[in-house]
Amino acid sequence: MAQEYRKPLPQPTETSRPFWEGARRGELRLQRCRSCGEYVFYPRSLCPHCLSPELGWTTASGRGHVYTYTVVRRPAHPGFRDEVPYVLAIVELEEGPRLTTNIVGVAPEEVRIGMPVEAVFEPATEEITLVKFRPRKET
Ligand SMILES: [Zn+2]
Repeated sequence: MAQEYRKPLPQPTETSRPFWEGARRGELRLQRCRSCGEYVFYPRSLCPHCLSPELGWTTASGRGHVYTYTVVRRPAHPGFRDEVPYVLAIVELEEGPRLTTNIVGVAPEEVRIGMPVEAVFEPATEEITLVKFRPRKET
């Protein structure tokens, strides 16, 4: 896989590294504030709810729903040329945070706002595994 990956990749930082290490193991990890209990995403050094620096890491359910989405038909980078059309979405996790991702495993025209989804883990390189979402049956 690794050498031929032609799309832009995330650059883990000291703060976000636990997220990427989790993704590599097939876990969706979120920060959770030890002071106020809120979940936090994207990774950062202070809680955006109460400004506490006491953020720990926790493994999320991986479940959520499509908050909003768009179908990309014109690639914004040459690496995506063979992928259009694809779905760029914001997924709202059961734990609360929203993240920008792709919806896969479904035709773009079948994606709906509110659709229940679950995380899937797509290795891109040795270091980076991308977190995407696919439809799930509501339970
Ligand atoms: Zn907090």
